[in-house]
Amino acid sequence: MAERADVIVVGAGPGGSATAYYATRAGLSVLLLDRQSFPRDKTCGDGLMPHASEELTLMGLGDWLDEPAHGKFSGFSLYTQTSYLRQKVPPTLHGPHGYVIPREETDARLLGRAEEAGADFRSGVRATKLLRSSAGNVTGVEAIADGEKVRYEAPLVVAADGVGGFAGEGMKARQNSVARRQYFRNVSGPNKEDLHIFITKDMNERGAGYGWVFYFGDGRANVGAGVSTKTLDRTGRNLKDYFDRFLEEPELASWLEGAEPEGPAKSWSLKMGMWGAKRHVQGLMSVGDAASMIHPISGEGVGYAIESGRLAAAWAHEAHSRGDYSTRVLRGYATQLRQKRAKEHLSGYALTNLVPNLQMIEPLFKACEQDPGARLTLIEGFTGDTPVYSLLKHPRSLGRAVKAALKS
Ligand SMILES: Cc1cc2nc3c(=O)[nH]c(=O)nc-3n(C[C@H](O)[C@H](O)[C@H](O)COP(=O)(O)OP(=O)(O)OC[C@H]3O[C@@H](n4cnc5c(N)ncnc54)[C@H](O)[C@@H]3O)c2cc1C
Repeated sequence: MAERADVIVVGAGPGGSATAYYATRAGLSVLLLDRQSFPRDKTCGDGLMPHASEELTLMGLGDWLDEPAHGKFSGFSLYTQTSYLRQKVPPTLHGPHGYVIPREETDARLLGRAEEAGADFRSGVRATKLLRSSAGNVTGVEAIADGEKVRYEAPLVVAADGVGGFAGEGMKARQNSVARRQYFRNVSGPNKEDLHIFITKDMNERGAGYGWVFYFGDGRANVGAGVSTKTLDRTGRNLKDYFDRFLEEPELASWLEGAEPEGPAKSWSLKMGMWGAKRHVQGLMSVGDAASMIHPISGEGVGYAIESGRLAAAWAHEAHSRGDYSTRVLRGYATQLRQKRAKEHLSGYALTNLVPNLQMIEPLFKACEQDPGARLTLIEGFTGDTPVYSLLKHPRSLGRAVKAALKS
């Protein structure tokens, strides 16, 4: 006989674990399925922006964030072709710090919180399709566990399977960026209390992308590079090529001189900007990467995955109380998420996709270098705290940038 729950969550990354944690705490029975066993690695920059740290704190992990082996950042260093911008973490409601913690650890902790709350976690279970009644209503999922076909039944399923797309083409968002990272020991760069971001010519002359160095607290660093898939299409180059060339950029190469790589470089894809994903249909919601919730400028998605899981759980509770899992009810989730995040995500998506190359905005970086107010807004655009068009509030710097762009 198939097992039953109030909600089935597919995927136990940050999005799925947060959904399971909040739904269980709201009194629902939750089956949380993942094809992998935990702790497991997830290819990532491992950066947790202040708003992501706030979400982790809400899930009871505030003290754990401050463990000494964890990187703690309080500023940003942005290196572009013509400028260097340094900015403290913007003084928003989310606090003055972010963290850098290996995802292997973060995701295991989040899953631990979901299990402590009472979620029933099953590893090694790969969901293969949604089950539906003859009327077309979602009734659960079909999966493979130990090589056997199994069925789990619930009136509501939450797709938290990252870029997996198990719920089918109707829900699936397109991947629109790719990124690669490697761990290094003994990277000798300055200002280890900053996140270091490199907007290089190589990645931005025919597209958009950036490289990074994020320091942990134990002498290691996460070094990576990500570019839009449009950049790959336009140049015919692959991600490994961009990553390898990033390691050879003179500034970075000098930091890496005495450094030792730890493990291989790994790549993964990203679904960004709330673009092209459907977030609800009857009996189904999607959260995190499955809902295309990665910020299109920073490439940051852990905080948004947890936030979307938190909101989806509230709507799961609402649907359960009403006994109504229709589109009409679940639409509330998609609307709430849009109201909270669409301005920042969609405007960032427009910037990185409509501008033919990010090199065009070099004069803007230069103008922001000299204008503290505009620089703060630029960084807030990066952290997702404001839409990029907020730069319009700095007409003098914008004017200077436009003049310089026209001249060149
Ligand atoms: C190189 C790189 C760097 C990044 N850097 C950052 C960063 O510094 N900061 C940041 O915040 N974000 C970063 N991101 C984005 C971040 O990794 C994602 O946004 C985040 O992992 C989203 O969490 P999630 O729970 O939606 O999905 P995931 O973390 O991908 O979890 C999905 C889970 O679903 C499981 N699964 C998949 N398919 C199935 C199936 N059919 N059945 C059962 N289980 C399944 C998987 O095993 C996995 O455990 C980066 C991404 C990349 C690729």
